[in-house]
Amino acid sequence: AKELGRNRSYDYHRELTDTMHSRMSLEQDLRSAIEGHHFELHFQPQFHIGEERPRRVEALLRWSHPLRGMISPHEFIPLAETSGMISELGFWVVRSACQQFMFWRQQGLQLDKIAVNVSAVQINASFANTIARIMEHLDFNPAWLELEVTESLMMSGTTEVNQQIHQLRTLGVEFAIDDFGTGYSSLSKIKSMPVTVLKVDQSFVRDINDDVNDYEIIRAIVLMARSLGLTVIAEGVETEAQQQTLKRIGCEWMQGYLYARPMDGGAFYERYVKDENR
Ligand code: C2E
Ligand code: CA
Ligand code: CA
Ligand code: CA
Repeated sequence: AKELGRNRSYDYHRELTDTMHSRMSLEQDLRSAIEGHHFELHFQPQFHIGEERPRRVEALLRWSHPLRGMISPHEFIPLAETSGMISELGFWVVRSACQQFMFWRQQGLQLDKIAVNVSAVQINASFANTIARIMEHLDFNPAWLELEVTESLMMSGTTEVNQQIHQLRTLGVEFAIDDFGTGYSSLSKIKSMPVTVLKVDQSFVRDINDDVNDYEIIRAIVLMARSLGLTVIAEGVETEAQQQTLKRIGCEWMQGYLYARPMDGGAFYERYVKDENR
């Protein structure tokens, strides 16, 4: 038994070293991927109920690793944040998303907005200026851009964060709260936040027909949003049944596998843009 115990702890130790080693090499890989631009964006459309053509689209970052294959943003975004690479990566995302959006519009697709995810650590003193420069350089209308941030960022916003957000708002950039409902912000606080869109977290949508609490939470969010003039987008809509319930509650915007999975720019073009300019 003693022997076994020692083996176990040895294995455990080795596993730990492997994990650390893998984390370090992943960090190195991330660095060279940023330098070599080995990332791509995928795009997931957002639909207004009853419409076949998307009016909005969310950009989602992808890293195709030469050996490990597709790595989820859940894995590499935190790494990019702690290793100081998120800023550079984040600006690349904004620039690429804006370019792609303009191309589709030029091809005739009537898109209103492109949504880009932004993590809290990205918002430094040069954030707003850099984004302003990117938009200006591309001749991109700031009203086309929506930045998705978390509830906690909006809630506990420091003066610097607030100032950066304000600067972009002044230009016409809009803000959405992502994963809304998971951060316990009091509904009354939303009124004072500089946001125009609430994205209901997928966890509520998933159980909307099975869990009365989730149903009531979404209903409350939609009612409140309506009285405040905010747009609600349900994310993670996978079934007809979920869509029906959301519609009945009064949620007018949907995003999820039921309509489309995130896809690369080429697939998006084939599916939604190609026939627009005939
Ligand atoms: P998120 O912003 O909440 O994005 C929604 C996630 O749900 C995406 O995962 C999307 O692919 C997935 N999804 C969409 N529809 C459905 C559905 O019907 N069912 C289910 N089960 N999932 C659905 P993804 O692309 O793996 O992204 C994960 C997270 O990584 C994002 O969550 C976002 O927080 C972060 N992320 C992605 N791209 C960026 C980026 O460019 N910058 C930053 N800072 N974060 C990003
Ligand atoms: Ca998002
Ligand atoms: Ca989300
Ligand atoms: Ca739930």
